[in-house]
Amino acid sequence: LARNPGEPEFHQAVYEVMHSLAPLAEERPEYAQWSILQRVCEPERQIIFRVPWVTDAGQVEINRGFRVEFNSALGPYKGGLRFHPSVNLSIIKFLGFEQVFKNSLTGMPIGGGKGGSDFDPKGRSDNEVMRFCQSFMTELYRHLGEYTDVPAGDIGVGAREIGYLFGQYKRITNRYESGVLTGKGVSWGGSRARTEATGYGTVHFAEAMLGVHGEDFDDRTVVVSGSGNVAIYAVEKAQALGAKVIAMSDSSGYVVDETGIDLEVLKDVKEIHRGRVADYADAVGPRARVITSGSIWDVPCDIALPCATQNELDDTQAGTLVGNGVRLVAEGANMPCTPGAVSVLRDAGVLFAPGKASNAGGVATSALEMQQNASRDAWDFETTAGRLQEIMYDIHDTCLATAEEFGSPGDYVVGANLAGYIKVADAMVAMGVI
Ligand code: NDP
Repeated sequence: LARNPGEPEFHQAVYEVMHSLAPLAEERPEYAQWSILQRVCEPERQIIFRVPWVTDAGQVEINRGFRVEFNSALGPYKGGLRFHPSVNLSIIKFLGFEQVFKNSLTGMPIGGGKGGSDFDPKGRSDNEVMRFCQSFMTELYRHLGEYTDVPAGDIGVGAREIGYLFGQYKRITNRYESGVLTGKGVSWGGSRARTEATGYGTVHFAEAMLGVHGEDFDDRTVVVSGSGNVAIYAVEKAQALGAKVIAMSDSSGYVVDETGIDLEVLKDVKEIHRGRVADYADAVGPRARVITSGSIWDVPCDIALPCATQNELDDTQAGTLVGNGVRLVAEGANMPCTPGAVSVLRDAGVLFAPGKASNAGGVATSALEMQQNASRDAWDFETTAGRLQEIMYDIHDTCLATAEEFGSPGDYVVGANLAGYIKVADAMVAMGVI
């Protein structure tokens, strides 16, 4: 860790995985060799670049762009781009590191990477976002390719940004290379069910966990943090399974709607008008309360789905959830629970799903998008959503079986880390010292 100073999020992610690998050192020492562990923690390539662009007012702005190509043992680097002012190398490296094992768990032929910029799309006009994306891609394009590195969306990068990025890639390379980006619009190479995939997948994973205990989502009270892509579709699937989602959030606060979130209003506010959760409360009237103090995790619930950002749920908040009788926490976001929160939840016997397993549905469906692009095909919604559901149940079963095999029955953190790692390590060893 001394080689990577000032990267707390990256250290946190590495520590969590390395901690889980202890049983491997005893039972299969060939996988726990220092030479493999060291290589797994060292990105194959890290690209940092200047992104100059011009505002509507004619002002020149400079942002920083990142792409960390972490590991290509299982396939081309695959992982999203995040546009958010908090983005720095530590955050991109932690996300890329997690992505390697997540992608391995999906069973699809994809390596791991992540990228982004400290650009904040919030409050920017469409033209400003377009100029930024064009400048970003003008540097990044030389590192991408459907067999090399295939980015997608993440926080702050949705269909609009992917459109501008793809347009610039196509213009610069003079190639209609559909498989170079995922999360595209359905009419120009995108996959049906990709928008829904991460949120739906998280709920499928949680559904499988409950199923092991003869339980389900029906009539359960659910709290979902965030109100972006992952959160919206987690709400949609949880409601379809009979649950009542009573709270959601953004970085300004949270909204509680005891009658259950009105999905149609939510989508209109967030997806059409790019509004805030406070606008949702305005739209539905007095049945919803906006709260700007405390935390969304103060709201009592049976199931908590953190779907906003890293380290958004700490040990104190986990204690509150436990005190309120929470049964299951499944991470829709990447590393939303601090290590302290995970300990509190596990010690209390709460069912806990780590993001690299429970939010893998997004990247799995991105791999299905690459598959459709490669065969010049477009599957219908049911086919793609059905594949997603199968993949999530498979990941669940793999995590459970691996945890059992290594002496930690029911521990999805151990199961996910070991199952993800073994496959990557196998491929790296087979390919020699590269
Ligand atoms: P979006 O940009 O669509 O939404 C992010 C949401 O989280 C917004 O509501 C945002 O609120 C909120 N948020 C961000 N930072 C904070 C904060 N510090 N405190 C409270 N709320 C915050 O992103 P996604 O839904 O795509 O991504 C959410 C998480 O899921 C991320 O961790 C991402 O890495 C992970 N993920 C996403 C996948 C995908 O397919 N999109 C795939 C796998 C994981 P505000 O608008 O106020 O900033």
